[in-house]
Amino acid sequence: MKLHTRIFIGLLAGAIAGSLLALFAVSGVAAIIKPVGDLFIKLLKMIAIPLIAVSIMGATAGFADLKKLGRVGLKGLSFFLASMVLATALGIVAANLFQPGRNLDPARKAAILAGMQADADLQKKAAIGSGAPRAGVADFLLSMVPANPFTALANGDMLAVITFSILLGLAFSLIAPQKRDRVLELLDALNDALIVLVKGVMRLAPYAVFALITSVIAQFGFHFLLALLEYSLVTIGVMAVFLFAYYGLAVLLLGRVSPMHFFRSLSSVGLLAFSTSSSNAVLPENMVSCEQKLDIDRGIVSFILPLGATINMSGTSIYQGVSAVFIAQVFGIALSLQQQLLIVLTATLAAVGTAGIPGIGIITLAMVLGASGLPLEGIGLIIGVERILDMCRTVLNVLGDSATALIVDRSEKRRERRRTWV
Ligand code: ASP
Repeated sequence: MKLHTRIFIGLLAGAIAGSLLALFAVSGVAAIIKPVGDLFIKLLKMIAIPLIAVSIMGATAGFADLKKLGRVGLKGLSFFLASMVLATALGIVAANLFQPGRNLDPARKAAILAGMQADADLQKKAAIGSGAPRAGVADFLLSMVPANPFTALANGDMLAVITFSILLGLAFSLIAPQKRDRVLELLDALNDALIVLVKGVMRLAPYAVFALITSVIAQFGFHFLLALLEYSLVTIGVMAVFLFAYYGLAVLLLGRVSPMHFFRSLSSVGLLAFSTSSSNAVLPENMVSCEQKLDIDRGIVSFILPLGATINMSGTSIYQGVSAVFIAQVFGIALSLQQQLLIVLTATLAAVGTAGIPGIGIITLAMVLGASGLPLEGIGLIIGVERILDMCRTVLNVLGDSATALIVDRSEKRRERRRTWV
């Protein structure tokens, strides 16, 4: 049986087991099996940081011409940013159109807020959100440069690791050719060994997905989703449209690959993103699938995917756009066009600053609310459905990276073909 089929069975079985546990209120059982899921995520994260460092260094050192490196980086970054701005704007338009916050009746709103007051765990999360630092653009740029690359590696500070790896990779490409080739060979061997590790860890995936989904559903149940059904449906609906229409079309028109083939090749990546809620944890498997199933050049995979896992979050952008407008509607605040444009800007920046780990999108949402003058209590309102929305937005975040890598790869290949004809 194929891996994605086994993962899907794990997911379905987890949904059933979790619902039964929630129904009979025996969530203690979920706590017993959850460590299997946690172990899987830990193993993937263990591989992610060395894989990013090794593959980016190898890719930058191996790019024969630096112009190509610059072009690939620029194409990737522009597509990331354009997608995120569009995603936020679409979220805002949909929230204006469907007005999920207008229909939330006051009694229900009071009940949700009261439930939130009673739940210490939720309160803690909201407190973290409201205290989120408002990082400026300069701070963000400075944080990309590590004062100590080993600390950055140890702390899993992705952006800083990426910067250092690019710079060291560039330096490798400038040393004596015999020495550079030896380094390249070593990096290539390390990369292959890390991929062997990824494949080994992926054998655990179906069981881990079962454990993760069982514990999420046993812990949260479905009742929160019902209380905020319209808001959740609008958010998930926009994400689905963005995934299949926007990325599907982009893959077809710019990548010249059938969307069917694209989504099928990445089905296990999508299922993993949904189950783990972590772009970073899925990165190793995404890299292997993009290279082996979609035939994307290793150099481009190594460069675009880690960058994307760190800054490209179109799912988080949609979530923040819809959530900001939803919160304004619930609290009866009319947003001017100018304010909505400000939300597009701040939500895009906040999404860029969102780390690829579970539950960060709601914390950076506090920045968006603060910058647009919306009440921070709004976080308490939506925190109950946070987990399920996090699972969905991670799928979009991750597959958006793969689509971008594919588009950049095919455009580079077309360019090379044109050049060989001339
Ligand atoms: N969990 C998301 C991711 O890893 C980030 C977020 O919280 O929005 O991509």
